Amino acid sequence: MSDQSALVPKPGIMDIALYVSGEAKIAGHDHVLKLSANENPHGCSPAAQAAFEAAATALNRYPATDHGPLRAAIGQVHGLDPERIICGVGSDEVLQFAMQAFVGAGDEAIITRHGFSMYPILARAVGAVPVIVEERDRRVDVDAILAAVTDRTRVVFVTNPGNPTGTMLDSAALDRLAAALPPHILLIHDGAYMEFAGCDDPGIALADAYPNVLATRTFSKIYGLGGLRIGWGYAQRPLIEVLARIRQPFNLSNAQMDAAQAAVLDRDFTAFCRDENARLRDFLRQSLVQMGIGCDESHANFVLARFASTEQARRCDAALREAGILVRRVDGYHLPDCLRITIGTEDDCRRLIDTIGGFMAHERGAE
Ligand SMILES: *Cc1c(COP(=O)(O)O)cnc(C)c1O
Repeated sequence: MSDQSALVPKPGIMDIALYVSGEAKIAGHDHVLKLSANENPHGCSPAAQAAFEAAATALNRYPATDHGPLRAAIGQVHGLDPERIICGVGSDEVLQFAMQAFVGAGDEAIITRHGFSMYPILARAVGAVPVIVEERDRRVDVDAILAAVTDRTRVVFVTNPGNPTGTMLDSAALDRLAAALPPHILLIHDGAYMEFAGCDDPGIALADAYPNVLATRTFSKIYGLGGLRIGWGYAQRPLIEVLARIRQPFNLSNAQMDAAQAAVLDRDFTAFCRDENARLRDFLRQSLVQMGIGCDESHANFVLARFASTEQARRCDAALREAGILVRRVDGYHLPDCLRITIGTEDDCRRLIDTIGGFMAHERGAE
């Protein structure tokens, strides 16, 4: 019999380790350069900000339940059928719909070694068991995923481009994965950084080809609206219709929808952010490599700096903090010898590289 003397959460809930977000403050520094949360250093589109401000005049009105204009705008810009799009409070909520709809107690969720730290939280929240699969040199390994599939597997998470690795799986590898997975297993392709990759979203193509694929995207990264919480998912109609049953009718406010709609329609701002990011990403990577710091080619809005040791990564992090610069330690992603660095403005990048350059010169002097 269950314990009737106290409230007891469902199995799995107390196994959840609380999410740790990128830090925003350093004691003793008033103007911290925050390169720890993959935020857009250019803010958001001015049109999105204007739409948000305009929404302030009608806060008494309930929002539309069908997200029609926002889905139409996303569909128009990406060439997609709006009926196959579902919007959520960040893409995190879309992932949550999928977990609630398809995954339950005792089921297994396959997550790759350096996968996004929200996935185990989402799995545990529905009583499922996260099964961690190794990556190969910081790249998602399709064969390792397929080898981990059991009778209990219900969902596979792939982040592409990866966070915090920045590496990317190509369409051929993804297709091999989707083709080999049994059709009752949901394959989630999380494309939070896709706009920075400068190519078509292979997750969208996969969702067109397979009924068990959900591709997700977000307004938090290139659109600079992380503070507003909007994301979306794309799949074939039957899958979207399942997720729609779980979505709360008023999950998105007018302000969220109006700002997101204006943001996606401002293609010039998006193109500017993508091009600046690509240019400065090259600069950062080359500068790091010249200093003897490892750095894979990144397809996202950050680079992963790989140091000679965990201790050296810690010392560099400390030197950056001393200079008022916050980057992301990624011990929690099983990369303790690395630091994830968001691409800032050109000035930000130069300041960062100067500081790391000073640190490496000091390290060489200490040898
Ligand atoms: C930032 C990020 C997201 C976006 O989450 P939102 O809920 O849309 O803000 C999703 N997946 C990954 C891997 C991310 O890094």
